[in-house]
Amino acid sequence: MPSLPKTDETFTTMDQKSRKLLERKQNIAQQRKALPIASVEKRLVEEVKNNDVLIIVGETGSGKTTQLPQFLFNAGLCHDGKVIGITQPRRVAAVSVAKRVAEECGVELGQRVGYSIRFDDVTSNLTRIKYMTDGLLLREALLDPFLSKYCVIIVDEAHERTVHTDVLLGLLKTVQSARSQYVNKELDHEKRSLYKSGNSDRENRLKACQGTKLPPLKLIIMSASLDASVFSKYLGGAKAVHVQGRQYPVDVLYTYHAEPDYLDAALITIFQVHLEEGPGDILVFLTGQEEIEFVERRIKERANQLPEENRKLVIVPIYSSLPSERQMKVFKPAPLGFRKVILATNIAETSVTIPGIKFVIDPGLVKARSYNPVTGVESLIIIPTSKAQALQRSGRAGREGTGKCFRLYPESEFAKLVDSTVPEIKRCNLSNVVLQLKALGIDDILGFDFMEKPSRMAIVRSLEQLFLLGALTEDYKLSDPVGYQMSRLPLDPIYSKALILAGEYQCVEEMLIVVAMLSVESIFYIPNDKLDEARAARKCFSSPEGDHITMINVYRASKEVMEKIQVTNSQDKAAEKSINKWCRDNFINKRSLKHARDIHSQILGHIQQMGLSVTSCGDDMLQFRRCLAASFFLNVALKQPDGTYRAMASAQIVRVHPSSVLFRTKPECIIFNELVRTNQIYVRNLTRIEPLWLPELAPQGAGVLVAERWSGVEQGGDDYTDVKGPNEYGSSISGWPSRSSS
Ligand code: ADP
Ligand code: MG
Repeated sequence: MPSLPKTDETFTTMDQKSRKLLERKQNIAQQRKALPIASVEKRLVEEVKNNDVLIIVGETGSGKTTQLPQFLFNAGLCHDGKVIGITQPRRVAAVSVAKRVAEECGVELGQRVGYSIRFDDVTSNLTRIKYMTDGLLLREALLDPFLSKYCVIIVDEAHERTVHTDVLLGLLKTVQSARSQYVNKELDHEKRSLYKSGNSDRENRLKACQGTKLPPLKLIIMSASLDASVFSKYLGGAKAVHVQGRQYPVDVLYTYHAEPDYLDAALITIFQVHLEEGPGDILVFLTGQEEIEFVERRIKERANQLPEENRKLVIVPIYSSLPSERQMKVFKPAPLGFRKVILATNIAETSVTIPGIKFVIDPGLVKARSYNPVTGVESLIIIPTSKAQALQRSGRAGREGTGKCFRLYPESEFAKLVDSTVPEIKRCNLSNVVLQLKALGIDDILGFDFMEKPSRMAIVRSLEQLFLLGALTEDYKLSDPVGYQMSRLPLDPIYSKALILAGEYQCVEEMLIVVAMLSVESIFYIPNDKLDEARAARKCFSSPEGDHITMINVYRASKEVMEKIQVTNSQDKAAEKSINKWCRDNFINKRSLKHARDIHSQILGHIQQMGLSVTSCGDDMLQFRRCLAASFFLNVALKQPDGTYRAMASAQIVRVHPSSVLFRTKPECIIFNELVRTNQIYVRNLTRIEPLWLPELAPQGAGVLVAERWSGVEQGGDDYTDVKGPNEYGSSISGWPSRSSS
């Protein structure tokens, strides 16, 4: 007999469920109607129809990112199955907005609305509105020079001026004109095949597509705060329209004195607001995952010391490498009577709009890339925000009513901030960009139509580096197959090369683990109150040879645990619990580990596609270390008599970071993967190597380069520009794996 629902309760719950769903739908519809952009829908659609390039400027939260693509779709701009592509500088924004828009449209994510970011593609051939990172669209252009899938491309958050946005704009200009110039014009067959088989030069490649039926490409540039005239000028006098936003007054408060410990100051302020102010959520701007996790733990500790009724806090972190299922938590309202504390990087400045915020706490700092083209050294540094960023941050408190912003620095400091951020292209290592442009068939990098040209020296350095890595030939053409293979891997060149080299050293499996582990923020965490326990736990994985092998040990151990769980237990929830427990017991950051595992499996896919076999050196770590030396010869440092190190390529004096397993042993010669600049310069992620390996393993010419750089430094020819600016999308260091974008 078929089983029937046994009690009325079943019916009630189902009713409640569908009622809730209906309520949510109505709610969303209401919210959408109330957005400032809703009242100008018709006008915007007309403007897009009438202009091939359009600039849209509108206050954060006015509805640009979520609504405009839907307006265009509804107006029928996606004919012939073409796609509206929206690029974001940050992964989190691409994912969270796509989820929201799918819900608004009432469709399943990955169907009509989807997203695609590096290591995660949720689209199908039904997708018509596609959110993605700007870096990913650049990669797509490698395979499809006309971007023929798209009818509209929206470059969002253009004011961020990430290196990918800048390069993308230059590329889109040529694609747009090529599409109107060559496409839809017949060309005889013979010529087409000639173009196809011949020269790899971009012009010829584009010409080879003549006769393809493609609609013109519409290009839309969107931003919160943007000097539209700069973009308009660059884009041939493009029209700019402004969407009026809504902003309530925000009371801005400063500290009396400079705060020696801004994290502690942030903590004190969080509790001051929580205990003394009325309802409303708090948004705290921090510089990265490590800081966010540290503050999260400290809030929990302090809250636990409060009386029960004062503990009603919900803490939600948001940063770019946060796994996507956790990202959405930030949008969930706190339960009744609770206050939400959002710990965010600069991602919450303009990329994502979180409802319910009434208080902003702003230490006034941001993590940024900084690059010295003379030494070729890129590092991540924490620097003051620009004025524009400070204003954006305080604005977050006034979206739904009046708010308060606590700037954790004295008012006199505000006046000293720079007005706006230096574009990233002026302060990063360009090897990745140059390799991509070369792979796109753009050979004349110095002549490329950049919105703002990077320094000549920075370009030359990156050409040099790519040559040393074997990606370019002596006449600076993309080498075959190494250069092509490197450009296909979604990693910074030095890492792509390491993986390719690992094939020769029979240690692809080990290098793959290392590249994945280096792509995430720290795998270990050391809570203040359990220092000794954490250190003891780490010892179990430590390798006397250095941090890379230590990472391999952690990864292998976690894999073993996973495999055991899978054998004895098929239930996902229980498996997750066990691995979480293992992480806790071993002081391993479970989010970072999961992220590393995801990245590992994605790169593995690419490697297999390339036909590289996944060899392992097993326990022969000598072989693996030799491979590290051959891969990272640009990052060799030698010990000095005083215990500091000299980085060979830059001649800089560096110190071993306290987090390294080699902090105490200090071997004679090391290779490193990361430079961290605080008041000192530290190197992180190190492995001991033999200096005698270098002449044999490093390519010829590396020595000459080192010598040149020495002389460059001595002549003081340093045109290093100091940087101010956002960097969350790709907190990566010269040639290290990109941490988040694309
Ligand atoms: P803009 O791009 O102009 O800054 P958005 O289109 O991102 O604005 O946001 C419009 C509105 O949608 C905001 O009020 C924001 O709070 C809301 N919103 C966006 N994403 C989500 C989400 N995932 N959940 C709930 N609300 C969201
Ligand atoms: Mg937006």
